[in-house]
Amino acid sequence: MKRERIYLSPPHMGGEEFKNVKEAFDTNWIAPVGPHINQFELELQRYLDVPHCVALTSGTAAIHLALIILGVESRDEVICSSFTFAGSCNPIVYQGATPVFIDSERNTWNMDPDLLEEAIRDRIKKGKKPKVIIYVHLYGMPAQVDRIVAIADQYEIPLIEDAAEGLGSTYKGQKLGAFGAFGILSFNGNKIITTSGGGALLTNNSTWSEKAKYLSTQARDPFVHYEHSEIGYNYRLSNVSAAIGRGQLKVIDKRVEERRAIFKRYVDGLKVIEAISFQPENKEGMSNRWLTTLEIDSTLTKEVTNESIRTALEQENIESRPLWKPMHKQPVYAQAPYYGSGVSESLFNTGLCLPSGSSLTISDQELIVSIINKMFKR
Ligand SMILES: *Cc1c(COP(=O)(O)O)cnc(C)c1O
Repeated sequence: MKRERIYLSPPHMGGEEFKNVKEAFDTNWIAPVGPHINQFELELQRYLDVPHCVALTSGTAAIHLALIILGVESRDEVICSSFTFAGSCNPIVYQGATPVFIDSERNTWNMDPDLLEEAIRDRIKKGKKPKVIIYVHLYGMPAQVDRIVAIADQYEIPLIEDAAEGLGSTYKGQKLGAFGAFGILSFNGNKIITTSGGGALLTNNSTWSEKAKYLSTQARDPFVHYEHSEIGYNYRLSNVSAAIGRGQLKVIDKRVEERRAIFKRYVDGLKVIEAISFQPENKEGMSNRWLTTLEIDSTLTKEVTNESIRTALEQENIESRPLWKPMHKQPVYAQAPYYGSGVSESLFNTGLCLPSGSSLTISDQELIVSIINKMFKR
């Protein structure tokens, strides 16, 4: 019998999800309103230790609402990590604003604080102070939070913390998502936990969280009829999805442990190969290791590349994937300003994401490790 495909990061249910969904059906709360949404928000607040949470249809929607509430408008500039998924920065363009991309540093692969400061100074000199900074914790690895927060404070620019990949990761003991004017999460199908599709907006500010709820439900004014004085969005999470999310949140700590164990097994299994290195851990934090990501040192090997490993795994019906292609290298963002030294581009050229789903079996992982080891022995 042919072995089933090994996916990069498939959904992994905890056990209570279906019971919760059935309960939503039994009570007929099949709507973007209902008790599971309210409970899911409370449970996220408790887990993350943040005062306010708004459950939404996606992480991208959460970033969009954060930008609106922070007043980003047409012709504004918004700073964003370049090494990320397009969901981080597309909402900047939804607002008619311009993204300004910042390269990564080598220590965590996230936004380089020195380049951030250089960019802010240069944009101010050119006549426009950036309105907002969006920074990302890529693959779940905490960015250099203290330095980024200090620079944002110094220049009085609000921060949006894109923790879409970092649920369960910590920085100085605090869960990610609490280090900005807004934090955002994603519960897309490939993330560490999923609602099949969904996201959340986190904030300390109750006025802002109320505003986000209002905007996410088509901005209805308090009348019996439908009255609107602002443009709204249909961004609220459904009660059925929230029912899945509550089951998933029960096992989040277990999922973090499992993904970190997978990372450790890859490191142990591939440590004899000098040309392979992994995304370094931020010493002030802890990564959920959403995806195990490696880098090939091309000065140490000519034959084996990230792409040759990817195709060798694909031949065995195993999914792996290149690292995120930096936004400043994307055709759609070719015109956007960029501050960098080529770190994220070099990571893209030499890196690979390995199968990292928490349901990955030890024997499947041993197979992956042995395929890669064999390639270096030839
Ligand atoms: C997944 C992701 C998003 C967007 O989340 P969606 O729920 O898919 O809209 C944003 N930023 C990063 C870094 C992501 O990985």
